[in-house]
Amino acid sequence: LQAEQIRRERMSKRAKAQQEAERALTRSTTVLSRVEDKPLVGNLIGEDHVNYVLIVGNELTPSAKYDFKFKDYAPWVFRELREDYFHLDPADYLLSLTAKYILSELGSPGKSGSFFYFSRDYRFIIKTIHHNEHKFLRRILPQYYAHVKDNPHTLLSRFYGLHRVKLPHGRKIHFVIMNNLFPAHKDVHESYDLKGSTVGREYPEEKAAQNPRAVLKDLNWIKRRKTLELGPEKRALLTEQLRRDSDLLKELGVMDYSLLVGIHSMRRGNRDNVRRNTLRVFSPDMPVINRKKTIGKGPQSPEAIAMRRIMREADPQRLGTITLPEEDTGERQHFLFYQDEGGLRATDEANENMDTIYYLGVIDILTPYNTFKKLEHFWKGLSADRHKISPVPPAEYSSRFFSFMKAIMRGGGGGERFVSDS
Ligand code: ATP
Ligand code: CA
Ligand code: CA
Repeated sequence: LQAEQIRRERMSKRAKAQQEAERALTRSTTVLSRVEDKPLVGNLIGEDHVNYVLIVGNELTPSAKYDFKFKDYAPWVFRELREDYFHLDPADYLLSLTAKYILSELGSPGKSGSFFYFSRDYRFIIKTIHHNEHKFLRRILPQYYAHVKDNPHTLLSRFYGLHRVKLPHGRKIHFVIMNNLFPAHKDVHESYDLKGSTVGREYPEEKAAQNPRAVLKDLNWIKRRKTLELGPEKRALLTEQLRRDSDLLKELGVMDYSLLVGIHSMRRGNRDNVRRNTLRVFSPDMPVINRKKTIGKGPQSPEAIAMRRIMREADPQRLGTITLPEEDTGERQHFLFYQDEGGLRATDEANENMDTIYYLGVIDILTPYNTFKKLEHFWKGLSADRHKISPVPPAEYSSRFFSFMKAIMRGGGGGERFVSDS
């Protein structure tokens, strides 16, 4: 009976949250047209619009010159998420993102052609997203919001804002602002992007040896016989949270997401500056880093050119060296899995600390299983095991993802059985 009551309460809480979110959503979209009379520093903290200089302007550049239109979607919803659930200090958030703290560019690491930018202090990531992903996030926002409310320790990407910039000639760029899983003050010695799929999921080991910053994949993890070293306590907590998160992703009908795992070895410490020194301060002459020549999305694509142009408006005086915070204080201390120096410290079977810190999170969660993905499923399924390829339907994806993550924790049996024979 008690369980039933708890269940009901939870459901009504969820229904209420959903209602609230929906209500907020209906009055949520604000268009900021011209900016010339508005204060130059954008206000994300509760006004009904955000000035476009949030990422583009500064005190020296007359903003009216560029007729960018900036749109802040569902500002109330994101504001509540940021302040009540993600524990961001509004002033901090703003400071990190305003042009004074010019962003640095990470380029376009994925296949999708999205571009990534770091906030100056490395705490936030801006990812340009496809219009479909943008529409999708707006659609699922009520569920996402409810989930975050019910799961303060969720491992899902923490979305802080959803925006659009419309350029003078009409092109639109959509982007999200989210948490950077990796810490500013610690070297990440190894990183993995894990899906539970094993077909083609390998970064060439020869290349990995030369590039300690490469993000490795499922097969590298398995072949290197890696394990998530977590004692019973943390293992149980992480498993439970992953179960809830992957259940939500199943309900939302998405796939292709991954668990990003950064590994910091405390013994090695920070002397190598691995990954941290990949931070590059953006300068207009710097060629855009883009390892792949993706069709239509390369450095010369309109998106990339526009983003560069936007970035160029930043104060060049400030393009000097980056000062990174010495340690991670702030929002991370509120989250179970980001508590130990911004991450999750490895533990042994007696739950005693070990010398490794993990930085974990579920990323790239905005890909619904649409016609394109169904075709990809069919196509890739012709030449490889239909259950081991990346594009599989959401329910299958979610359960495979969850079992893989359980398998790679200590005592979980390893990921070998996920490897395809073909
Ligand atoms: P694709 O669809 O081809 O997989 P994408 O453009 O959608 O690529 P993501 O999968 O979201 O890109 O991210 C690509 C890489 O960028 C990740 O493997 C990771 O290394 C880095 N990355 C993405 N999000 C984060 C984050 N929140 N914190 C730290 N690193 C991140
Ligand atoms: Ca991805
Ligand atoms: Ca993607």
